[in-house]
Amino acid sequence: MAIATINPTTGELIKTFAALTPGEIEQKLAFAQATFESYQWVPFPQRAAWMNTAAEILTAQRQDLGRLITLEMGKTLTSAIAEVEKCAWVCRYYAEHAATFLADVAVTTDAHQSYVKYQPLGAILAVMPWNFPFWQVFRFAAPALMAGNVGILKHASNVPQCALAIAEIFREAGFPEGAFQTLLVGADQVASLIADDRIKAATLTGSEPAGMSLAATAGHYLKKTVLELGGSDPLIVLPSADLETAVTAAVTARMLNNGQSCIAAKRLIVVGEIGDVFTQKLMAQLQALKVGDPLLPETDLGPLATPQILHELDQQVQQSVQQGARLLLGGQPLDRPGNFYPPTLLTDIPPGSLADLAEFFGPVALLFQVADLDQAIALANKTSFGLGASAWTTVPEERDLLINELVSGSVFINGLVKSDPRLPFGGIKRSGYGRELGSQGIQEFVNIKTIWIR
Ligand code: NDP
Repeated sequence: MAIATINPTTGELIKTFAALTPGEIEQKLAFAQATFESYQWVPFPQRAAWMNTAAEILTAQRQDLGRLITLEMGKTLTSAIAEVEKCAWVCRYYAEHAATFLADVAVTTDAHQSYVKYQPLGAILAVMPWNFPFWQVFRFAAPALMAGNVGILKHASNVPQCALAIAEIFREAGFPEGAFQTLLVGADQVASLIADDRIKAATLTGSEPAGMSLAATAGHYLKKTVLELGGSDPLIVLPSADLETAVTAAVTARMLNNGQSCIAAKRLIVVGEIGDVFTQKLMAQLQALKVGDPLLPETDLGPLATPQILHELDQQVQQSVQQGARLLLGGQPLDRPGNFYPPTLLTDIPPGSLADLAEFFGPVALLFQVADLDQAIALANKTSFGLGASAWTTVPEERDLLINELVSGSVFINGLVKSDPRLPFGGIKRSGYGRELGSQGIQEFVNIKTIWIR
């Protein structure tokens, strides 16, 4: 894939970038290693001061940075600006809490004194996707840099200007230049980066094939990885729920980021007698969404990030219909420039079909009606993924059952699944492993050192 900015709204090629040469990659890795030698000893208050400055820069530049995000991957400008603001939040959060999360922990043993000490590892490689081109990077970088690691970013090839802008923000904030570097390279360079001794661990957010490939190489070189991969999150609505609120949440959770979010509510599971009313309300809200130029404030749904994603999504929809699913809305790319796909709704999905099992990465809602809660939970747990789950009920017994029995990295009751710097985020099954955010996130890439003294 060429490293280039191509406006998804118009299809216009804006700018191309040459991939780094082997010599340039070598220079950057050497610089990262040299920087780590001193950066690891920088005290927390200094790191926190730089991280808070990064937050200030993000806040001050949110309009321009938001435009850059929209230009490169097509999300609405409103959501792009909100993404930049969320990055400022995660910077502030770890600036404030990193020292506490990584403070020595005393443990009573047969020693005179024993404790756990957290120390940074070195250069961490982050392979990141285009869908939240700032947020995915900052939720890695803020804890990694606060822990004393240095970051190497291999961003998705369609967001190179975002990748360069992020490195510039950390530099401008005062971090040593080698503390966070962007490498403009293709996916074919990732394996040799992981093989390099100076890369100590890696994190990847993206597709299953990319995750498997990176983890296989990292396994070969015995390097730790964190993977945040796809999902086909359920959103379950029980009869006791406030229907209007649940429908609105379902639409928001499915269409978020033009439908291209790992934690989008891809499968809407409605229980019992509310099925038909839910469907009508859902159709009405989906039909009311405004598709168009993501720079305009009235737009709800912009284009998909690339023509390939549009094509793959459309193929999935057509195949689902061939397999027996019923198309209630949408289902054809829009006849206009750019990668536009309309809000689409599929129902009567046959068990074992594509729509029953696969991830749909775009504005396509999959609607299932089931008889009771047990069926809802069984259906929710059926896919190979296990990222998040949202459920809507006011009955405490139902709530407790859902919390216990949904097999996923998170369960949100009467709310849509979202990431929050204060809470761990990640999946199980084929959605990946390890956690980002919270105290757990910052402890992924550190040496948990046991100290024993007599
Ligand atoms: P990819 O997984 O291909 O891309 C994500 C990142 O991984 C990019 O930086 C990419 O680089 C890199 N990459 C791709 N292949 C490899 C590889 N073999 N080894 C190492 N790194 C690799 O995602 P796509 O953009 O192709 O999206 C396809 C699907 O991925 C979506 O339909 C969705 O299912 C899933 N996805 C999930 C995301 C999430 O948030 N969990 C985010 C984005 C996608 P390059 O761009 O240079 O190819």
